Amino acid sequence: MPSFKCKNIGMDCPFETSAPTEAELEQKIADHARSVHNIKTLDKDMWMKIKKTIK
Ligand SMILES: [Zn+2]
Repeated sequence: MPSFKCKNIGMDCPFETSAPTEAELEQKIADHARSVHNIKTLDKDMWMKIKKTIK
């Protein structure tokens, strides 16, 4: 199951999440970025960084 930890992209944040598919995981990450970090849209560079840390 793919998982993501916010601290792996250099954020001082304890958030971690996982989902059955990478698409669902990306949705959860986008929701988290918007609600907690006030990032309305994640740009391409940010996604590249995020995807490198997805296990
Ligand atoms: Zn976070």
